[in-house]
Amino acid sequence: MNSPLKDAASFERYSRQILFAGIGESGQQRLALSSAVIVGCGAIGASTVALLARAGVGRLCILDRDFVEPSNLQRQTLFDESDASNSLPKAIAAQQKLRTINSAVSIEGIVADVTPKNAEELLSGFDLILDGSDNFETRFLINDFAVKHNLPWIYAAAVGSYGVAMTIRPGLTACLACLLEGDRFPSGIEETCDTVGVLGPVVQLISSLESTEAIKLLAGKEEALHGRLISSDVWSGRFQSVQIARNVNCRACSHQEFSYLEGDAQPHVTMCGRDSVQIHERSRSLDLAALGARLSSAVEFVHQNDFLLRFRVSPYEMTVFADGRAILKGSQDATIARSLYARFIGS
Ligand SMILES: [Zn+2]
Repeated sequence: MNSPLKDAASFERYSRQILFAGIGESGQQRLALSSAVIVGCGAIGASTVALLARAGVGRLCILDRDFVEPSNLQRQTLFDESDASNSLPKAIAAQQKLRTINSAVSIEGIVADVTPKNAEELLSGFDLILDGSDNFETRFLINDFAVKHNLPWIYAAAVGSYGVAMTIRPGLTACLACLLEGDRFPSGIEETCDTVGVLGPVVQLISSLESTEAIKLLAGKEEALHGRLISSDVWSGRFQSVQIARNVNCRACSHQEFSYLEGDAQPHVTMCGRDSVQIHERSRSLDLAALGARLSSAVEFVHQNDFLLRFRVSPYEMTVFADGRAILKGSQDATIARSLYARFIGS
């Protein structure tokens, strides 16, 4: 079992955190024995998981479906230019960086899109689930899973200069469905970072709120949780802290209806940012090297690493992952995506 305080060097490593009255030696020990899974390793996810690795959380798992691109570097502080030029999957790039930051904690990166089909497998076995995702489909899926299994999770989102964070403890606090479903409140953030942009600083602010709540929970300091939804606009300087009541008629936490988790509703092709769509293939195993060799004479450009293969058929660019999933850039048209996939990857 992981016990990082057993020697003087480990004690010294976390000494400033142990000195902090809210945590102390007992809290640090608890952190070392705790685990968290982060869903999505973009801007907020990468910052949060880095803070938790540094804080000494014993086991961290990073789930992400995407790869590093130059446009990420303005705010995704864990990645650098070589990750972008190598098109490394974010889960793998994060795993590599975090292992150099703290070799005493267990860190695993998994390249995957969390869906109703694999949520039970990917999210089970952790003390806490952290939101690093960029869409509400995924957040409601996390919420359903967390409520069903009575696990805490932390909702965190940012777009433009605005962000929100809220810790959800099923049965004790409002859940995401209490907050956003029905007519009680206006719906969640509709805009996306791909349409209105996002500032690096708001990401860091929201990540700080999320990781502080995570540290409280994992260190066994539940009494310190503030129990509020905090929102802020770093451009205007507005901060809000609101107590959210549970909805007695909530689909998820009152009626135990887990429509996102049970949903076979997920379409085969979904929007994935501006001018791109994602093709969800039932898990299949692709031989990327063989595919690359086959495509090299048929397309304009092929780039491949251990995790993905990218090729261009102007004006489109397709990135295929080893599990059969693909992201098509240059179109939002599901028909084009399906047709290119069938033509070049096969079905
Ligand atoms: Zn609820």
